[in-house]
Amino acid sequence: MSLDISAPFMDITREFLHEIPKTDLHVHLDGSLRLSTILELADKQGVELPNGANTEEELADEIHMGEVCEDLDDYLKAFDVTLSVLQTEEALYRAAFELGEDAAKENVRYMEVRYSPLLHTREGLSFPVIVEAVAEGLREAKRQYGIMSGQIICGIRHITPEASLRLAELCVAFKDKEVVAFDLAGAEVDNPPKDHKEAFYLIRNNNVNLTIHAGEAYGPESIHQAIHMCGAHRVGHGVRLREDGDLLNYVNDHRIPLEVCPSSNIQTQACKSFESHPLPFYISYGLRCTINTDNRLITDTSVTGELEKVVDHYNLNIGDLRRLIINGFKSSFMPYRKKRTVTAQACTEFDAIVSEYENQQGEEAIKDPNVAQEIAFQQLAADARKPINDVSLDRYPPLRGREAEVETPRKSAPETKAPFDSSVDDHVGTPEEDSPDMDADERPEPSSDDDESEDVTV
Ligand SMILES: [Zn+2]
Repeated sequence: MSLDISAPFMDITREFLHEIPKTDLHVHLDGSLRLSTILELADKQGVELPNGANTEEELADEIHMGEVCEDLDDYLKAFDVTLSVLQTEEALYRAAFELGEDAAKENVRYMEVRYSPLLHTREGLSFPVIVEAVAEGLREAKRQYGIMSGQIICGIRHITPEASLRLAELCVAFKDKEVVAFDLAGAEVDNPPKDHKEAFYLIRNNNVNLTIHAGEAYGPESIHQAIHMCGAHRVGHGVRLREDGDLLNYVNDHRIPLEVCPSSNIQTQACKSFESHPLPFYISYGLRCTINTDNRLITDTSVTGELEKVVDHYNLNIGDLRRLIINGFKSSFMPYRKKRTVTAQACTEFDAIVSEYENQQGEEAIKDPNVAQEIAFQQLAADARKPINDVSLDRYPPLRGREAEVETPRKSAPETKAPFDSSVDDHVGTPEEDSPDMDADERPEPSSDDDESEDVTV
């Protein structure tokens, strides 16, 4: 079959990307303030901004907002500025709330906000007070906008391993409350993650989720250590994973999510350009990529903005985009049962928005049969454990040669009578729809996610 490449896909507009449900799993609190908030906080706290900046334009210049940085010092300068006004409970509350507000307004439904409490103690705040202030800001954002979130506590590579251990203890104390995971951030060169192994041991010993910045400014050895010596469940960035094919396959086979932050990678020169970024290769190879902002302020971006760049630069179609969105929800550190429900809702909403665009445009949005088939695979895999009769295939073309795989339900697949959305990813459903054998089928570590039937069949 020849493809009509003149109009193969639905036109993925910024408006569409804004509207769809999204996640942000890698966003730094201290890199994501509003310019206006820094100016107001500085004024109120009597903090002098660099070169006396007192307008948003001057401040944007000083922090090199959105610019490609000359070097790491240049990049870190921005954090000196943001951290100078983030030393009070009120400021932390406000930064967290406004981050939640900004994200919610672009339809981010779930985010994991990371920061290191160690960097907010200059005026005497204690670790628990810092965590509570951020938590209260995020709770208020949830109350007002419904956005769900969790905190990730960061150890810092270039500060001492002892400090990381203190932060790991904090993480353990707040586990299952405000904090969902531990991270290691900071300068990657000359600071291997294994130096902080005591902190990681405490984290793992207490069954806390773990993500580590790795393969951003250092080679794949850093990713190898993060996964195998430190026990990371996700990898922050992973740009240089492509340099080690064996490790790349391991990450792929074990469905270890990558928190990709494309614009940030170019800003910090982890990659020279979008063209040389490994993301399109990772996507085509089947790696579980998620798209994130890293620093909304410093990188001058949003999740919508990142998705727009990715779609435009790599000519992604609606099927690719749907998978990236699903990956975001599936890779979150939400408790598994909640994650199933939230992912199901996101899939339903995504498909409804596609239908809405179809109606507006008066034509089928998905014109390419291969794209329709990719989406059908995603949806069918979600229902692979259900009798095929429950799955609506009306709007998609037949699946050539794949029917046998999806028509054979697991022997104890539930006869679900309740509405069960055919667009649900994996066997995502409400907890009431679970059957015990579904859980028995879960994969072991390192990934905390369920078995990935759609990844196997696609
Ligand atoms: Zn980061």
